Amino acid sequence: MGIKTVKFGGSSLCDADHFRMVADIIKSDPERRYVVPSAPGKRSKDDIKVTDMLYECYKFARERMTREFDATYEKICDRYNGIISGLGLNFDISGELEYIKQAILMRAGRDFAASRGEYLNSLILAKYLGYDFIDAENVIFFKEGGNIDMELTESALSYELKKHERAVIPGFYGKMPNDTVKTFSRGGSDITGSIVALASGSDLYENWTDVSGVLMADPRIVENPCVIEKITYRELRELSYMGASVLHEDATFPVRNAGIPINVRNTLRPEDPGTMIVKSAKGYDKKHIITGIAGKKGFSVITIESDMMNSEVGFGRKVLEIFEEFGLSFEHLPSGIDTMSVILATSEIEGREDRLLRALKHSVHPDSITVEKGLALIAVVGRGMVKSKGTAARVFKACTEADVNIRMIDQGSCELNIILGVNEADFEAAVGAIYGEFVH
Ligand code: ASP
Repeated sequence: MGIKTVKFGGSSLCDADHFRMVADIIKSDPERRYVVPSAPGKRSKDDIKVTDMLYECYKFARERMTREFDATYEKICDRYNGIISGLGLNFDISGELEYIKQAILMRAGRDFAASRGEYLNSLILAKYLGYDFIDAENVIFFKEGGNIDMELTESALSYELKKHERAVIPGFYGKMPNDTVKTFSRGGSDITGSIVALASGSDLYENWTDVSGVLMADPRIVENPCVIEKITYRELRELSYMGASVLHEDATFPVRNAGIPINVRNTLRPEDPGTMIVKSAKGYDKKHIITGIAGKKGFSVITIESDMMNSEVGFGRKVLEIFEEFGLSFEHLPSGIDTMSVILATSEIEGREDRLLRALKHSVHPDSITVEKGLALIAVVGRGMVKSKGTAARVFKACTEADVNIRMIDQGSCELNIILGVNEADFEAAVGAIYGEFVH
């Protein structure tokens, strides 16, 4: 029998009804042996996540705002008690709730406070499922600087998991060398799930959320975009980097090295197959030459012009040295015979533009140097592009037909993506047109 690690996001565990759906999913497949829950998420658009309330409590405790602290903590207790009574469980967590309250008031730390959302949810889920509970602080270890200690974690966790046929392990947190609790960044239960999948030798890491998989485009721009059936880790990284929000960006690394696939699934529609994220995929769907489209606004182009630039050895190095001195990382670097353009996030240069331009002028004495803001970048990603002719032509045709002017093009040498730069005002039209060209 294989092993599956299953992670459930906060929206999948927001109340008793959702707990029941989650339990049905877990129980319907005996291979689903290790479960990583998030803290209860929003029950409606205006609701507040338990993690956010815990951060609030920490702040109120620090500022000695006792009334506000009590009121918010009360709401947290109500959320958990509501789940327990809704499930009809005979389980008293009042001692835990009181201990956590006192610990936060005694300044147990911001990360400790935030981590209790996952901790309490896991205790309840373990009880409901009849699974063992493994506290993440005994098996997930961080190093002094705050990075995960993978070696120690993997050996401690795999040793512990072997002792448990089935277990629930809270997401999001672990322990520092000085024994204090530390969390990953927001959404970090995805990382815990990935680590548990690795350490348990799982064949599959299922990540259950509230959408039926990774979408081909942002649903705020494209109506009802298709779900991607299969995507490679590299393609996913390209799309995530350009703004597609799917998993925590560090979540793929543990399973990726071990070649364990991730299946993104929808708790509300367990019959949907979701998206498979795999190390490599031979084929691609001929209908879908591209895998997905993502993009972001808020970029600037700094164009440096200098006659005979091409023959001046070291020009590019000098330019990039200045960016390095300013601690600026750039996105793209298209160049011509006498021009070199550096594309980077506008937020990176805000407040230091003048100093940057002065430094560039001083270093390379260009004929001119200009800054243009308001650029949006769009990544058209697909492993199928390398084998199909005319993909770029179709991207351009779509943009032309949508009356969008393309200001920059960059095709990665691996032919996994085509990056376009367009005016921010044209962003949505361009994404919609490209999607329409390839999908329908
Ligand atoms: N509960 C944490 C958050 O809201 C971690 C997670 O859900 O993955 O960010």
